[in-house]
Amino acid sequence: MAACHVVFLPFMAYGHMIPMADMAVLFASRGLQTTIVTTSSSAHRLTKSIHKTANFPHQIALHIIDFKAGLPPGIDNPDHIISNEHMYGLLEAIPTLQEPFEQFVEKSQPNCIVADMFFPWTTETAARFNIPRIAFNGTGFFALCVSDAVSRYQPTVSSDSEAFVVPHLPHDIELTRKQLPRLEGEEFKVFLKTIIQAVEAEAKSYGVIFNSFYELEPEYVHHYREVLKRKSWHVGPVSLCNKSTEDKLERGKKSAVDEHGCLEWLESKPAGSVVYVSFGSIVKVTGSQVYEIAIGLEGCDESFVWVIRNDQEALIPEGFEARMEAKGKGLIIKGWAPQVLILEHESVGGFVTHCGWNSVLEGVSGGVAMVAWPIMAEQFYNAKLVTDVLRIGVSIGDVEWSADSTCEGVTREAIERAVARVMGAEEGEDMRKRARELKEKANKAVEKGGSSYSDLTTFIENIKEFRENTTK
Ligand code: UDP
Repeated sequence: MAACHVVFLPFMAYGHMIPMADMAVLFASRGLQTTIVTTSSSAHRLTKSIHKTANFPHQIALHIIDFKAGLPPGIDNPDHIISNEHMYGLLEAIPTLQEPFEQFVEKSQPNCIVADMFFPWTTETAARFNIPRIAFNGTGFFALCVSDAVSRYQPTVSSDSEAFVVPHLPHDIELTRKQLPRLEGEEFKVFLKTIIQAVEAEAKSYGVIFNSFYELEPEYVHHYREVLKRKSWHVGPVSLCNKSTEDKLERGKKSAVDEHGCLEWLESKPAGSVVYVSFGSIVKVTGSQVYEIAIGLEGCDESFVWVIRNDQEALIPEGFEARMEAKGKGLIIKGWAPQVLILEHESVGGFVTHCGWNSVLEGVSGGVAMVAWPIMAEQFYNAKLVTDVLRIGVSIGDVEWSADSTCEGVTREAIERAVARVMGAEEGEDMRKRARELKEKANKAVEKGGSSYSDLTTFIENIKEFRENTTK
């Protein structure tokens, strides 16, 4: 029987494309035929992943589709976007991808579609061609369970800062209203509609695939499957399919630092002594916040690697970089960092993170303790998993969900305090020990016989069964 053909349709943001490209590599490594469908402005990001599968029975294929009316450069890809208005322009144009996508599906007759939450209409495509649609949300079980519980519950609190316990979850998860997404008003109409459609499409899908592993959030795997009654598979951490330095170096984008220089710098530091600071690919850090981070990091006892976007270079305090270089205390990466390579380096012991799901998983896979500094999306839920459930990190403090992805308002003292806690003795050592144990479990999960390896086997069997039942 021919190999199953799985088509991946990732949303074009780095945080969605990178894990889906890794997932395609993983599927190809298990002998499946895979195609990634994307737009021309994002296709170049997949070159490396495709190359990684050159020696597999089926190399990943690429198929390009484009927006019907074309989109002006700057809004054709979420990572070029600077305003919410532009983002909504992109979201409104997304349904025009349905027609060229369906033409491709009709011609290539795949056995399954793994589609991002931002393409809810793929449930119609799947129904039309009688193949399973698998949803990919780019987050973990915990976040989806909390999000579901929060959406059904109106807390009786007297202010946005008063904590409430989210009901009907395996743990007592405390949140405040100001940590929840706020999508009220005309301004957020398009985004809210997209989210509602995504949730509805998830429920109608054949199942949901997760970049996660069982041992990380077992109670929430059960809750999702047995209480929310959704079919699901966990196949992560998918970043662990990148074995060589070369693979880790360039995920999604070419790194802005020389690999040798970066590794040499890390190697000059004692094990577990460096803090890595990054806010992912979307968050905008304000000028005053860049300043506070710089001074905060200078005040910490530890060495650091700090990733700032290249358009923020001018915001670094004068003389800071030269001082850090002279003392060998800080490495500043302006642009794209080889994040997985850094987090897996033994000199790194802590991670100041915005809690994007990929970053959390990559931190877990690196065995580092985290300072959770969530900004937007479902990051506040991910932060709770890190601090309250896994107890491998501390919160940066009282921060509020930002509708425009802005990172601001945290003082240098709060940064110093939080870093000192995760990097320090006793409390810090306990967190780092738990983090190292999770790293081991993550690696075991993706090995032959591990929980993620086995769940991918189940996934492949389920897709084959579906095919057999429909061809009978
Ligand atoms: N990333 C990277 N280098 C950077 C910034 C981000 O390699 O300088 C990668 C990171 O390893 C992760 C992804 O981009 O895989 C970001 O996803 P995440 O969910 O952490 O955050 P988002 O960017 O979606 O907010």
